[in-house]
Amino acid sequence: MPVLVMKFGGTSVATLDRIKRAAKKVGVEVAKGYDVIVIVSAMSGKTNELVGWVNETSPLFDAREYDAVVSSGENVTAGLMALTLQEMDVPARSWQGWQVPLLTTSAHSSARIEEIQTDNINAKFGEGMRVAVVAGFQGLSPEGRITTLGRGGSDTTAVAFAAAFEAERCDIYTDVDGVYTTDPRICEKARKLDKIAFEEMLELASLGAKVLQTRSVELAMKYKVRLRVLSSFEEQSDEAGTLVCDEEEIMEQNAVAGVAYSRDEAKVTLISVADRPGIAAAIFGPLADAGVNVDMIVQNISEDGRTDMTFSCPIDQVARAEKAMNAAKAADSINFHDLVADTDVCKVSIVGIGMRSHAGVAAKMFDCLSREGINLKVIGTSEIKVSVLIDRKYMELAVQALHDAFELEKTA
Ligand code: ADP
Ligand code: ASP
Ligand code: MG
Repeated sequence: MPVLVMKFGGTSVATLDRIKRAAKKVGVEVAKGYDVIVIVSAMSGKTNELVGWVNETSPLFDAREYDAVVSSGENVTAGLMALTLQEMDVPARSWQGWQVPLLTTSAHSSARIEEIQTDNINAKFGEGMRVAVVAGFQGLSPEGRITTLGRGGSDTTAVAFAAAFEAERCDIYTDVDGVYTTDPRICEKARKLDKIAFEEMLELASLGAKVLQTRSVELAMKYKVRLRVLSSFEEQSDEAGTLVCDEEEIMEQNAVAGVAYSRDEAKVTLISVADRPGIAAAIFGPLADAGVNVDMIVQNISEDGRTDMTFSCPIDQVARAEKAMNAAKAADSINFHDLVADTDVCKVSIVGIGMRSHAGVAAKMFDCLSREGINLKVIGTSEIKVSVLIDRKYMELAVQALHDAFELEKTA
C-alpha cells in the first residue's frame, strides 16, 4: 500500500482534544488506503519546560542526560496518539526513536540522522497495522544513547521517514495553513503561498522562519520528497497548504519571495586587533572550537595596522564567545583592546530566487529601511538573500515595511 507521512507539531497535539482532531485526519487517509506514518512533537510548551528543568538542575549539563530529558515529551504524545487511533478502531502502535531504530550521530542536542531501519515497521504494516506513530525529534547514537535533532527537529524526522519509506508525500500539519510571505503573526498582510521553491524555503528557514526546520528542507531537497505544510485546524483537501517543490514547478516569480527574521541575535566587536595575515583564523578558529555559530562578519578599514572585527552569533552563545576570545588573548594568540557585545539586535532578511535576475533589490531594501529611520549595523548578502542586523525594537516595523516595499501581498 502507498505510504503517507503526516507530522503534527506541538500546538496540533497540545491537548487530548487536539490529538483526537489530528487522529481523525489520520483516519481519513487510512480510509483512502494509505499506510500512514505519523510523526508527533511534544505538546506545545513541553520541550521548553523540560529544557528549563535541565538548566535549573545543572547549568553545565551533560548533553546525554539533556537529551534523555528533553526527548521525553514526544514519548507521551506518541503513546496518546496510538491510543486515540486504537479507540477509533484504527490498528496503530507507537515507536520511540530507538525502537525503530532511527540511528543518528553522537552530536547530542543537534544529532544528524544516519539511517532509518524500515524492517520493523514494514513487518508490522505487513501484519495489518495501518498507522505507525513515531516520536519525533529523537534517535539513537552509536554509543546506544538517546539523541535529539535540535529544536524543531520533528520536521526532520518526518522528512527522513518519508525518504526512507518512499512515501507519496510528507504532510507537515501545524498552526498556520501554509508557508506565508512572512510570519503571519507579525505581519497581517502576509500572503499564503501555494508553492515555494526548495532553495527559497531553505533560506527562509535558516534565516529564522521556524515553520520548517532547516535540515528538513535540506533532506526533502536531496531525496525529492514532496513536502507540504498545512493546518491541523482546517478541513483537509488535496490542494490545501503550501507545496515545497522544485523551482521549475513554479510559474509566478517575484524578485523577493519572502521576509524572515531572527530575534535572538547578538553582535560582538573586538576593538583594535592587529591587522596581520592570519588574524581572522586566530579569531574564528577558537570561536568554532568553542561551538559558536558565527554568522555575519565585518572587518573595518585598518588604521595604523589595527582594525575592529565584528561578527554576529546567536545570543545564547555570547558568553561562550567572550570566554574563547579572552582565552585566546591570555594565550597571546590574539590581542584586542576591548570586546563589546550588543545583545539588543535582530536579523531581518529578504529571500528570493528572482534576485538572481533582478538588479537593485538590495538598494530597494536599504532605501525602505532608511525611510523608516532604521540604522543598519551589519549587512550580509548571498545570491538569493540580503540580511541586515538592526536594533531589535525595529524588528516588526522592518518586516512590515519590507513586505510593503516589495508588494509581497500581491501575486506576481
Ligand atoms: P509546530 O509546533 O507545528 O512545529 P512551529 O511553531 O514550529 O509549529 O512553526 C509554525 C510557526 O512558524 C507559525 O505559527 C508562524 O508563527 C511561524 N512562521 C514564521 N515564519 C513563517 C512563514 N513565513 N510562514 C508561516 N509561518 C511562519
Ligand atoms: N518538541 C521539539 C521542540 O519543541 C521538537 C519539535 O517540536 O519539532 O523543539
Ligand atoms: Mg516546528
